[in-house]
Amino acid sequence: MSFDLRMAELNKRIKEANKIVFFGGAGVSTASGIPDFRSKDGLYNTKDAQFEKYTPEYLLSASCLYQHPKVFYEFYRQKLDCRDIEPNITHYKLAEMEAKGKLSSVITQNIDGLHQKAGSKKVYEIHGTTLVNYCTWCHEYFDDDHIFTSSEPIPRCECGGMVRPDVTLYEEMLPQKEWEAANTEVMDCDLLIVAGTSLTVYPANSLLNLVRDMDKLVLINRDETGWENKAGLVFHEDMTEVFSRIEV
Ligand code: ZN
Repeated sequence: MSFDLRMAELNKRIKEANKIVFFGGAGVSTASGIPDFRSKDGLYNTKDAQFEKYTPEYLLSASCLYQHPKVFYEFYRQKLDCRDIEPNITHYKLAEMEAKGKLSSVITQNIDGLHQKAGSKKVYEIHGTTLVNYCTWCHEYFDDDHIFTSSEPIPRCECGGMVRPDVTLYEEMLPQKEWEAANTEVMDCDLLIVAGTSLTVYPANSLLNLVRDMDKLVLINRDETGWENKAGLVFHEDMTEVFSRIEV
């Protein structure tokens, strides 16, 4: 089916649906200039002599945070400072869909806070967020400036404890409450739009198994994911192109 026909079909399904849920990954933020961790030219494949002896997975792991915190924060500050990044058309269109009562919620694997910045209200951040940080000793909360502008190599709380991002690192469990809410959202929706995710990470990808009717699943991703045969509508076109043509 041609792109035009698939767009018409997508707009028809959106019009007919009453409770749409969006589930997105790194690809949603690439148009804002945040590299996709797993893509060919993404963060994981950027050559950086300073970090070369570590794998990117290690640099974003709980082991690295607690065993080599200086290395962790050096990498984190260089690569994950999202404070000056702006949302793109996909974020804005989703916020508009929510404001008009079409979209129930956004479930995201991103930690950049761009959906909220675009105006989305109900966002489930299943891998946490760089915007929230807390003391590992007394659990006092800190904003992202505290991490990114700290003059000390390891950001500290007044109590002396290390301040860490509320981000799900490798080796850590997903935040239970967010994850359960995301599952409920998907089970209750009448259209799930999945976009910008390679769907390789478990358990995040298992959300798709909750959709039994393939007509209720739309997949938008530049590359093949292996989940195409579960979706009634598939787009390998550029996401911003698809979203710019969604009529709300
Ligand atoms: Zn503290």
